[in-house]
Amino acid sequence: MIEKKYKSQPTMKAAVFHQAYEPLSIEDVPLKPLKSTEIRVRIETCSVCHVDLQYVDQGLATAKAPPLILGHEISGVVEETGKNVTLFRSGNRVIVPGTMSCGKCLACKSWNETQCDHLKILGNHVDGGYAEYITIDQNQLVSLPDEFPFELGSLISNVFVGAYHLVYDRVNIHQGETVVIFGSGGFGLSLLQMAKLKQAHVYMVDIFDWKLNIARDYNADGILNSNKCKVCEEGICDMIGGKADVVIETTGTPRTMVQAMNVLHKGGRLVLSGYSENTLPFLAARIIMNEMSLIGSIGTPLRKIPDVIKLVNDGKIRWQEMITYHFPLSQINEAFNTLRMGQSIRTVIHPNQKDI
Ligand SMILES: [Zn+2]
Ligand SMILES: [Zn+2]
Repeated sequence: MIEKKYKSQPTMKAAVFHQAYEPLSIEDVPLKPLKSTEIRVRIETCSVCHVDLQYVDQGLATAKAPPLILGHEISGVVEETGKNVTLFRSGNRVIVPGTMSCGKCLACKSWNETQCDHLKILGNHVDGGYAEYITIDQNQLVSLPDEFPFELGSLISNVFVGAYHLVYDRVNIHQGETVVIFGSGGFGLSLLQMAKLKQAHVYMVDIFDWKLNIARDYNADGILNSNKCKVCEEGICDMIGGKADVVIETTGTPRTMVQAMNVLHKGGRLVLSGYSENTLPFLAARIIMNEMSLIGSIGTPLRKIPDVIKLVNDGKIRWQEMITYHFPLSQINEAFNTLRMGQSIRTVIHPNQKDI
């Protein structure tokens, strides 16, 4: 009886974000009708990113005002296709990249789609993945290989492709360079692995030993718990035997941005990739007098996903250790708690499974 009623109504379950400092609420949300080139994807996994916590816990503004469905690390199965869809069919397994570019502006046409004039982030500009379904244009999807689990698809959709873009396109890390990464979370561990593929010397800084131990297991050249040193910068310089060529800040906090700047040598590149609305906490003269470069990196370019899939397929990227917990959609707030408590690298939501 209940099932019949449910089927007759075009709605889906979703975890809706209404305002900061309040838990997400599980609601029935109308399913949007499909446009001709759109696809309805049944979401199998959406993993929780620290940015989602910033919206809820710190009042970081979303581009679209709430109510909004958060979540930008999505993988699933094509459920239904619009009448002009040619690229996928029902039952295909897909990755939904975390950012969408328009394909039409100058940046998109010159292969700089992460600089798109109309760049949209899922779960920020438009509804995201903490829901049973997402509706998306066929051009925004990439096939997920049959042998790849969905949670691996979720990692690829955001942190792996984002890290690949940063290391290969934005910073172009060279063989033999010394790289320090602040934050041994999902993005940091992805960056570590990409930078090691470039044969750099990579050092990780975090405040949790258990996360740093994964970094060591992933062949970091050194790890440092910054809570255990008197002066973080001294600990880092001791560890790396001098100063760094490249420092990547993934946490977005002003204190670590200053520490990152302090361990960079003249001519070095400071990379900011931890999303933050803070004002930069250092003097312009530091950049000028030391001829440093300041580099931003955002986005998950869809056309790079096949390169990343190949790296994973070739066994060059490890990932199992990065998946810490699994939860059904109904327990999304408990899932967020695992990140709040520093207990998780990636916690995976399974919107279409009742029990896990
Ligand atoms: Zn993210
Ligand atoms: Zn564009």
